[in-house]
Amino acid sequence: MDSIDSAMSELVEVELVEGPTIFALSSELRNFGYLLTCDRCKDSRELISAILVIPAGGVAWALCGPCMRQIPNSRGQVV
Ligand SMILES: [Zn+2]
Repeated sequence: MDSIDSAMSELVEVELVEGPTIFALSSELRNFGYLLTCDRCKDSRELISAILVIPAGGVAWALCGPCMRQIPNSRGQVV
């Protein structure tokens, strides 16, 4: 297990909001001139495909498609 895996497993409660709704919302906001930018890579060219919420910390991260795919085992460790 590498460091990223162990860091992810320490997140006790994580909620992952993803799917067509988030993608559509991101796309729609862009039409209004408001860019949802990925909190990980800060690449505004990528549409946000998921929002990672950590209720305990009151934190929410917007993540683009490529970043979602780079997070190891995200689907296996979220609620
Ligand atoms: Zn990203």
